[in-house]
Amino acid sequence: MTFIQKFVTTLLPAKWSAAIQAESESWLLPCPKCGFVQSVWDIGGVRYKAVSKGKRVSVRCLSCKQWSMMPMERKLDQ
Ligand SMILES: [Zn+2]
Repeated sequence: MTFIQKFVTTLLPAKWSAAIQAESESWLLPCPKCGFVQSVWDIGGVRYKAVSKGKRVSVRCLSCKQWSMMPMERKLDQ
């Protein structure tokens, strides 16, 4: 876990940190190079109560290890 994730999971009430982790895991970053889909939480990030659908962020893919601009997408089946 990254510092911010440790902060969230250790200092906040469990109910809050679970909600923040769940929301961070619902934001997905599909890699345009290999097709691997990772969540914001997977890459060490935290996303909560923020709307930024379609925002492009520079992320290093956990699968192919290449940096790419990936469109952030909200997983809809929750
Ligand atoms: Zn990739």
